[in-house]
Amino acid sequence: MKKVLVTRPLPEAVISALSKVHKVAVRDDTRPMGRDEMVAALTRFDAILPTIGDRFSADVFAAAGEIRARLLANFGVGYNHIDVAAARALGIMVTNTPGVLTDATADLALTLLLATARRAGEGERLLRAGGWTGWHPTQLLGTHVTGKTVGIVGMGRIGQAIARRCHFGFAMEVAYFNRSEKALAFPARRETSLAALAGSVDFVVLAVPGGAETRHMIGADTFAAMKPTGIFINIARGDVVDEAALIAALAAGEIAGAGLDVYEFEPRVPDALKAMENVTLLPHLGSATLETRTAMGMLAADNILAFFAGKPLLTPV
Ligand code: NAP
Repeated sequence: MKKVLVTRPLPEAVISALSKVHKVAVRDDTRPMGRDEMVAALTRFDAILPTIGDRFSADVFAAAGEIRARLLANFGVGYNHIDVAAARALGIMVTNTPGVLTDATADLALTLLLATARRAGEGERLLRAGGWTGWHPTQLLGTHVTGKTVGIVGMGRIGQAIARRCHFGFAMEVAYFNRSEKALAFPARRETSLAALAGSVDFVVLAVPGGAETRHMIGADTFAAMKPTGIFINIARGDVVDEAALIAALAAGEIAGAGLDVYEFEPRVPDALKAMENVTLLPHLGSATLETRTAMGMLAADNILAFFAGKPLLTPV
């Protein structure tokens, strides 16, 4: 029986599956771990099930000295909060949860795209504030979605799930920018520069991983290249976007709107964004369905169970 730390409360089914085999401690706090907590956890537990915000940096590993943990089974597909190279150098394995959250996250991208194009947040706020005086032909006119062109930045699992929804559900043309060429099960044109993509589509949807390689990949240049009627959607990671440049582009009317699930310095969301009616703001809800969060937890748990049973990891990073 190994000692396992789960760093946030998770759906009961997950804790119960892990507890049948190992001694599980669940951290009773919904906030990210502090540095000292992470250092202590590395020395006291055989495996840790961390998630977004738990910054396992090289510095934290170094401060821990004698490390007991052999596995970080991350809850989430994105693992840019873990210094994987530093972990690997110490013989600590890292896993993530790809695939099981693809559909939920793609659904949320479409939620943001539709809500922003059709001014749903603005309409809801108007109605709740008692400002709706009745239907009229020119009230809250939005942007048509069906048949328009979507540009996906990062045509991986989630990017493709978004593109499928746009193509099959909304008869949209699909264009994409991606590190490598993709074999796709739907028609899509590949652009070889971000600016060419941004300038030729109605919606830019960001679905690349976060981390050093993609930090501020989207900035003033991309927004300047977008159509003034263009809408920008981010369900990837906040630091992929230069948030100050996004705010400036929105303020200058360089783009028409934005739908955001993630923020550069989350959970801090700039007041400038909150003040803009043409921006839809969600609190990082990409994978937030009970079914998906349970599946993510089960996959993280299965990695831990496999590891200590001497079997291959299911989804190593
Ligand atoms: P994935 O299958 O690995 O897809 C990522 C795609 O981005 C790949 O196609 C990759 O290209 C491409 N890419 C990577 N770096 C690039 C670069 N510098 N330039 C252009 N393209 C680049 O990952 P996924 O499962 O779709 O997840 C994507 C990300 O979404 C995650 O890493 C996570 O941060 C984020 N996410 C957010 C939420 C949320 O709650 N909002 C939920 C789930 C995931 P290649 O094909 O060449 O590898």
